[in-house]
Order: sequence, then C-alpha cells, then structure tokens
Amino acid sequence: MEENVSILIVEDEPRIRSGLIDFLEFHDYMVTAVEDGLEAQRAVRDHRYDLILLDLMLPKISGEDLCRQWRQNGLTTPIIMLTAKGQEREKINGLDLGADDYVTKPFSLEELLARIRAILRRTDPARSVGQRFQFGSLQVDISGLKVIVDGQEIPISKRQAMMIQTFAANPNRVISREELYEKVWGESMNEIETRTVDMHIAKLRSKIEPDPNEPTLIKTVRGVGYMYESQ
Ligand code: CA
Repeated sequence: MEENVSILIVEDEPRIRSGLIDFLEFHDYMVTAVEDGLEAQRAVRDHRYDLILLDLMLPKISGEDLCRQWRQNGLTTPIIMLTAKGQEREKINGLDLGADDYVTKPFSLEELLARIRAILRRTDPARSVGQRFQFGSLQVDISGLKVIVDGQEIPISKRQAMMIQTFAANPNRVISREELYEKVWGESMNEIETRTVDMHIAKLRSKIEPDPNEPTLIKTVRGVGYMYESQ
C-alpha cells in the first residue's frame, strides 16, 4: 500500500537512524537516510521526497535552520520533526518554522507510523483512493478533474475533486465540517467557514446529484456534517 512513497530520514544518532530505516522499509516505504545537515540539504536539492523526518539537533546545519530554509525556498514536502525530551520550546519553534508535526524522543515507532500516514493522507488524498474510481453511480477522474455521469463528462474544480476523494476514502462515515475543511482547505476551520463548507457542498451536489434537493451520494447528517453512503 505504501509503495513508491519516499521518505528522507535526517538523523545523526546511528541507533535511531538504523531503527527508523528498518521499520519504515518493513512497512514498504522507500527510505533514504542521511546523518548531517549538509547531506540533508544536498539530498533535498537533488531528489523529491514525499516526506522528511528531520532531527532537530544535527551536525553542520541544524534541523531548525534546514526547515526554515526549505520553507523559504518554497519546499512543500511534509516535515515531521524529531525532538529530544526537554526541547519543548524548540518544538513550538519547529512548528512555527513550517514543520507539519513533531514527535518527542523516545517515540514509539507505531505512533510515528500513524503520524506519517495521517500526514500523507492529509497532504495527498489521492493516496487513499486511486486517480480513477467509482463514486456511487459516477466515475471520477481525479487527475482529469472531471466526473462522468451517464457517459457525460462534467468538469469539477480541484476543491470539488478533493471533497469527493475525502468522501470516497471514508465511506459510510460521518465527516464533520471541521474535518472536511481541514482536509480540503488544509487548515483548521473558524466559525465563518461553516457556511463556506455548506456552500461548496451545495455546489458539488448540483454537479453530481441527480436531484440536488434529494441527495443520494453525499447526505447531510444534521448538526454533524456529511456522509457518503456506499452500497
Ligand atoms: Ca541529533
């Protein structure tokens, strides 16, 4: 399932580094590991990774500086910071610098795996479902940004595609407006945006529901959110 997902490990402690390599390779990730900041810089310049595990205290260039630099250069690859106990302040700074998450050493590998999966799902919903799939009676073509209804192609926006993907990846589960907003817009929702979500759902329904007033694909769960009912 995790095939072709590449992870860069930047960690100078040999024991932790080799533990991470073994564990992530066991879970079928493609792993590259480097041991100092300079090597990390080079690796990121020369290759594209899906995720970076970045130790904070590193020889040559610190994880903090690397993270700041990468974000300033527009790198959007998700970064999980590995921090040692007692570096609480740095942890917060780490998130300010643009890291997506952090774990505190000693961390459990299972917990790290859960965070990796969550981040990859969040940053690329296409990982949890394919590029072309059946959604109720529709055919969805994510990369082509269209749905096919009764042989007729209807263009959809990127946001609409992400909404469909989110529902398709979570059949028969109620998705709250907050969760949907976080997945599709990539940030947490404030009160005003409740309306935004509802408006986007209405717009999406007008494209994919045979009768948008009696939705059969994306149903409203009153007071909670929305649900895709899959047969
Ligand atoms: Ca270190």
